[in-house]
Amino acid sequence: MDLLPRLSCAWCEREHEGSVARCPCGGPLDRVEPLGRVVGSLSGASGAGLSRFSSALGLGEGFVSLGEGGTPLVQEESLGAWLKLEGLNPTGSFKDRGASVVVSYAANWVGASRVVEDSSGNAGAAVAAYAARAGLECVVFSPAHVTDAKRARMEALGADVRVVEGPRSSVTEAAVKEAKREEGTYYASHTYPPFFVEGCSSIAFELVEQVGGVPDAVVTPCAMGSIVLGCFEGFDRLRRGGVIEEVPAIFAVQAAGVDPIAARFGNDVEGENRLADGLLVPEPPRLGQVVDALEASGGCAVSVTEDKTRGAMERLHRRGVLVEASSATALAGGDALRERGLLGRGEEPVLVLTGAWTPG
Ligand SMILES: [Zn+2]
Repeated sequence: MDLLPRLSCAWCEREHEGSVARCPCGGPLDRVEPLGRVVGSLSGASGAGLSRFSSALGLGEGFVSLGEGGTPLVQEESLGAWLKLEGLNPTGSFKDRGASVVVSYAANWVGASRVVEDSSGNAGAAVAAYAARAGLECVVFSPAHVTDAKRARMEALGADVRVVEGPRSSVTEAAVKEAKREEGTYYASHTYPPFFVEGCSSIAFELVEQVGGVPDAVVTPCAMGSIVLGCFEGFDRLRRGGVIEEVPAIFAVQAAGVDPIAARFGNDVEGENRLADGLLVPEPPRLGQVVDALEASGGCAVSVTEDKTRGAMERLHRRGVLVEASSATALAGGDALRERGLLGRGEEPVLVLTGAWTPG
């Protein structure tokens, strides 16, 4: 792969070597030189899944792949929506798109022998799988609300799972500390280095191919904001390349009670939503970037209650679509957007169904 890119902090603008995963100030990192401002064509790509976009994503020799990406887009007329079935990725969620890229980076560019991650389950399983594929050791720090099923899945993939009590930020700090403790360890975070989000931009590339143009809108569950940022970047690169004329409106859906991004858009939904266990991130480090991307796309963020989430999950299950609760927030959020007139009656948004159903 290419030489290590220089990175700069999104908060304090300090520059870092590419092997640094997070700025000491706590900020997330972006490339100093963009990956490529323009994607002029999606045709002529070979391979399947993410590998089809290897030049746009900067993937080189030694890309660690399990065939991620290339997920179906299915029309569901009864729901007035298109469903992007991300649960069909190798470990059951969209996180495989980012994990394949960030673990490739750790193994081939940084030369790490061990990766650490902090996750409530899906990102942890994804990083564990790609670490196993690359022959790296993997430690995942999880918040206390991690479900038994998600923990078991990470452990089955060889991860050393360590539960950290207290706020979500202390789970991150435990991962950062562990990465510093042992030489050859890389913090394969799904938030702080830019690589995970880059992998997620493949969703935008696929949607343009599958729809044959620009979708009416994209509605996605949102915790850290990887899909919002990845999709915006992917669509915007295609727009600059003249492949599409505009970026579609992107809408983020959060869990009531833990909805800092929706709060920036005047969200006033009250209550708690612990059922959406993958979305409980009170302080996403890229919050400002996510808000900017939503605004630039013409979208916004809303949050949904536990009852609405459960109802949406049951409706999807009755249509044969086996998603986890956090994913079903996309459908509940789409309903809320329609009620508020933010989605037109005739519009058929893409709902990004981020992960497969897991018991518990
Ligand atoms: Zn900084």
